[in-house]
Amino acid sequence: MQLGDSLSIVNATKYYGKFKAVDNVSLAVNKGEFLTILGPSGSGKTSLLKLIAGFEGLSSGAILLNNQEITKKKAYEREIGMLFQNYALFPHMTVFDNIAYPLRLRKYPKREIAEKVSDILKLVHLEEYASRFPKQLSGGQQQRVALARAIVYNPPLLLLDEPLGALDKNLRHQMQLEIKHIQEKLGITTISVTHDQEEALTMSDRICVMNRGRIEQIDTPQNLYQKPSNRFVAEFIGEINLIAGELVGKEAGTGHMKLLNRHVVTVDLADRDELALNTSVYLAIRPENVQIAADQAAWANTLSAKVKELIYVGEAVKVKAEMETGQELTVKVPARDMQTVALGREVLLGWGRQDAYVIVDDQGR
Ligand code: ADP
Ligand code: MG
Repeated sequence: MQLGDSLSIVNATKYYGKFKAVDNVSLAVNKGEFLTILGPSGSGKTSLLKLIAGFEGLSSGAILLNNQEITKKKAYEREIGMLFQNYALFPHMTVFDNIAYPLRLRKYPKREIAEKVSDILKLVHLEEYASRFPKQLSGGQQQRVALARAIVYNPPLLLLDEPLGALDKNLRHQMQLEIKHIQEKLGITTISVTHDQEEALTMSDRICVMNRGRIEQIDTPQNLYQKPSNRFVAEFIGEINLIAGELVGKEAGTGHMKLLNRHVVTVDLADRDELALNTSVYLAIRPENVQIAADQAAWANTLSAKVKELIYVGEAVKVKAEMETGQELTVKVPARDMQTVALGREVLLGWGRQDAYVIVDDQGR
């Protein structure tokens, strides 16, 4: 654990009967950090959050909050703020009383309650709504009240479990930014759970990718997208081409990969120097990093290909092309360059050495 860590999870394991939902997870969250736990449904995200909140006990391992062990503490003793999808406002209480509730519970003086509620109402842009009842508010406004109630007493940690899942897309995007801004302003350490990769990329300082109860990678959004450390992460976040081949040469951060028809391409090996020659690996490249090349000289790698399918997605056209190796590659062409591609046309695909990297096939482990 490092100095300044706000939350540390050490070798946490959770069994439900014989089923291991959380498998030896260790994780340190920094003070003020917004960390998202991202993973497919059933990967153990909510289970991990419940362990932190104290709604479930660990089978083994420890949890520390601000350097104090809380593993055995009851949920209410942990003082953690929480916001879930069904935010369960008290229907018979006004907005003011809903937000004041945790303060009254903690016996704050009346004047301080009025001040704190008023401040937080401003922060969530609901000053005008203090005397309304929850049913007189929109879904987004209700969610803001629930957020205000969760943070009004300055909890040491805020936990969010798919809090925006019930909102429609535009409102969800707006709320993502709003929660992020409030979180930054208050500097409150936050752990959020989602299966929505876009939400994770938008809101997080770091993302922890979970799969089958285990952590696959913890990193900044940018690093996860640009340098996924394994096949699961590469395929889970964004779209990616994975082209099978073999590592046949390497020197100073550059690798040479032989594809199916013995065509050799160069790849970025910067963080993969330990890979042995003749390892079976995938060439990994994002669709937006492949170009329809005008001439061979401009690119470190070029391959000829035939356009098999065009999929219009608004700002771009996705081009599925069969390469001369017989393998398929998807290219994302900006819509303004659409005229460079047509069904059945032979094209030259080009990409730079930095645009492609290698990952090992780890899904059989
Ligand atoms: P996620 O939030 O990532 O969708 P969960 O943590 O809710 O995943 O669940 C992980 C796995 O643990 C799932 O297979 C789920 O069925 C199982 N599980 C969750 N809660 C319980 C429980 N109380 N009893 C038994 N199995 C559970
Ligand atoms: Mg869940």
